[in-house]
Amino acid sequence: MKRFFLLLTIFFTILTYSQDRKFKLILDAGHGGKDPGAQKNGCVEKEIALDVILQIGQILEKYPDFDIKYTRKTDVFIPLKDRAKIANDFEANLFVSVHCNSSTSPNPYGSMTLVMGLSRSNLNFEIAKTENAVIFQEDDYKKNYQGFDPNNPSTQIGLKILQEETLLQSISFASEVQNQFKNTLERKDLGMHQQPLWVLDATVMPGVLIELGFLSNLKESKYINSKEGRQNYAQVIALAILKYKNQLMETNTPLFEPKILTPVLIEEPKQEVVTIKDDPNYTTTTNASKEIVTEKKYKVQISFSSKKLDLNPSNFNGLNNVVLVEQNNGYKYYYGAGSTHEECKKKLAEAKAKGYKSAFIVEDN
Ligand SMILES: [Zn+2]
Repeated sequence: MKRFFLLLTIFFTILTYSQDRKFKLILDAGHGGKDPGAQKNGCVEKEIALDVILQIGQILEKYPDFDIKYTRKTDVFIPLKDRAKIANDFEANLFVSVHCNSSTSPNPYGSMTLVMGLSRSNLNFEIAKTENAVIFQEDDYKKNYQGFDPNNPSTQIGLKILQEETLLQSISFASEVQNQFKNTLERKDLGMHQQPLWVLDATVMPGVLIELGFLSNLKESKYINSKEGRQNYAQVIALAILKYKNQLMETNTPLFEPKILTPVLIEEPKQEVVTIKDDPNYTTTTNASKEIVTEKKYKVQISFSSKKLDLNPSNFNGLNNVVLVEQNNGYKYYYGAGSTHEECKKKLAEAKAKGYKSAFIVEDN
């Protein structure tokens, strides 16, 4: 009988222990609400981040040894300090934040994973600025962040670098995420980088910030925006989390075989997309937007955007008399027209000089 109680005690101890040993995961969808994040090629970062995060959660919630908390499950604005507090109060084992990258050039593409640290390259420092900049949108940011300057993050943060084990675990997980992106998804691997990111510094557990890819790159933006692409990202990130958890806790939680889908990407006629700087104050529709040049056969197209812009010159690097034509998926902006190709060349040169390097002459049908 005594032995029975002993066994019972051991049984309950194991049971309690295994319950305590649940892997606590924070899933953090970047941006939200009034902060849309990057917006390029018709993609909105906050929407993509949320979709991918919810899908990761959906996969991992099936595992009883996971305890998952989300910083947001809807389109709401959450200050960075609240995200960190949610993670710290939960005593999470891992903090995973999903974002999308963006560049002023349409060329860069590829996936990268960031961990807390001081960057050695200016290129990556730009990402830290972008991702920290949300602090400016918070009402009491001066009080809440005690003088932290999002434009110069290395001055105030960096203490976590000293917590070597946390950093090493973050790096180990980040490497697995990049390994999945590269080998399972065959995405371009931009590697793992150390960045002075406020939210990763304020969270005490290992954590990463994943930049799925560049919304400013037309081809990659289509992959990221596709249902299949997002599903692929979610599957491999979930898989990386499982592998990390097994390694950290020495468990054998079964892995799954990801079903990698090829997105159906509609190839558009070759045409470079230039995203024009958004004008948040835009409220009225000008009558000029209805003016479509019809008698002139040739036009200089300067850009294509999903956004309808006020046609004043300040929105077009100073170009006057820009004309807009509505398409079913966005707006084409033209500068100048002529009855011959030759006549448009001067206008084309002017547009290029004003920064519309990919402007071109089109012929009306
Ligand atoms: Zn972001």
